[in-house]
Amino acid sequence: MMKRFSMTALAGFCAMTISGCSDNSVAPTAEVADQTTNQWIIDGQRDLANALNQQPINKPAKNVIFFIGDGMGITTQTAARILEGQLSGQDGEENLLSFETLPYTALVKTYTTNHQVSDSAGTATAYHTGVKTKSGVIGLSEFADYNVCDGQAEHEVTSLLKMAEDRGMATGLVSTARITHASPAAAYAHAASREWETDKDMLPADIEMGCVDIARQLIEFEHGDGVDVILGGGRRGFLPNTVADPEYPDQQGRREDGRDLVAQWQAAGGQFVWNEQQLRDAPQDQPLLGLFEPSHMQFEVDRPHDAGGEPSLTEMTATAISRLEDSEEGYYLFIEAGRIDHAHHYNNAYRALHDAVEMSRAVAQAMAMTSEQDTLIVVSADHSHSFALAGYPAKGNGVFDWVRGTDERGHPTNEVELAEDGQPYSMLGYTTGFMVPRDEAYGELDPSHPNFRQGARIPSRGEHHGGEDVVVMARGPMAHAFHGFVEQTFLYHAMAHALGFQQ
Ligand SMILES: [Zn+2]
Repeated sequence: MMKRFSMTALAGFCAMTISGCSDNSVAPTAEVADQTTNQWIIDGQRDLANALNQQPINKPAKNVIFFIGDGMGITTQTAARILEGQLSGQDGEENLLSFETLPYTALVKTYTTNHQVSDSAGTATAYHTGVKTKSGVIGLSEFADYNVCDGQAEHEVTSLLKMAEDRGMATGLVSTARITHASPAAAYAHAASREWETDKDMLPADIEMGCVDIARQLIEFEHGDGVDVILGGGRRGFLPNTVADPEYPDQQGRREDGRDLVAQWQAAGGQFVWNEQQLRDAPQDQPLLGLFEPSHMQFEVDRPHDAGGEPSLTEMTATAISRLEDSEEGYYLFIEAGRIDHAHHYNNAYRALHDAVEMSRAVAQAMAMTSEQDTLIVVSADHSHSFALAGYPAKGNGVFDWVRGTDERGHPTNEVELAEDGQPYSMLGYTTGFMVPRDEAYGELDPSHPNFRQGARIPSRGEHHGGEDVVVMARGPMAHAFHGFVEQTFLYHAMAHALGFQQ
């Protein structure tokens, strides 16, 4: 019985291998039978066949959709992958996030010209313009001095978004952070400091010298017909400090120069919306500015409690694509999951990972709405965090739970493991940031609570970024350019090439 079964299995195995089997291949044994009928073998053969059948799409892209998970390092991807799997009732480890199914990947070196561990401004300048620069600098080369207005104009570098507008393409910007925050800002602005989001954040002398705040640069963007779809947070930067916020009437705008940039946008023929219902009702035929919070938008897990009702990253992604996809000249769309980073800075893995899972949904939406024959989708991160996944939790351990291990036979015990100090521990942790005393009360905490903060090893005001490589994943025309280890500037070059832009 065993012999006949294993012969059958071997025949199937031979059929599936690419190099083929010869008739005098290994004699069937119990060991081979176990291996050939093993699910890991079957899955591995399927994945190998898919990998060998992958054909590059070697032609220009009509459209590019470029996603950045701010602070989405590899550990964040792994933990978010497990979380997403567990949310759908699996152990989690076998799951893949939507963007982890894209066929081409590379590892990305994220350092800036003056820091081993980078910030979001230097990295955004690298991937938007193809030029590495100093940390904190937006849309200027490394020869500009950080936070110095004088002379900055000589060091401006141009972005993919500007090139797309200059060529008559439709363009869009989406972020769950303030739309004037570093990652989107480097697509359209030049500023010696990422802090110059409004005039209030600049020295009067710098404004007199002619440096312009980031919010104004977005509304007064002079390339093509301006950005067609802008969705994100940061409303206060567009409203004067004499005007009440529409969602929170006890708050005012932030601008001190009296400019109402929302009114300026509307006067130029654009629509403005500030909540989810208005976004759904907005007519398709005018440029759209949607600003859904005075500062950053809500974390995904807090979004249902928002006063005015906010769209998710997935809904903003779908809205942006549907408004851009009829463009004859194609479109360039930049989308940022901007708050994975912020939750990590609070040592709060719960919100970071739920925002990463929402980014997976948003990329799935973009994949479903586009064809890989004409649309290049690129997904990456700007930098990592000091975030670790460690200990020896049993497979299927709740991603936010205390570590529960295995017994001497390798079977899960479902018992909480204790560290050398007699306290339980989470598999998620941080090198820097908020310290949680590991005293008697520690074991009484609920590590799965949304507000649980994984403790750090080194105290710091806000958890720090990490300096190891991040991943870039891609599908569509010229996606095969992404392989090996690349500088972050390479993302710009590969996307510009896919769109046929000449350097
Ligand atoms: Zn950060």
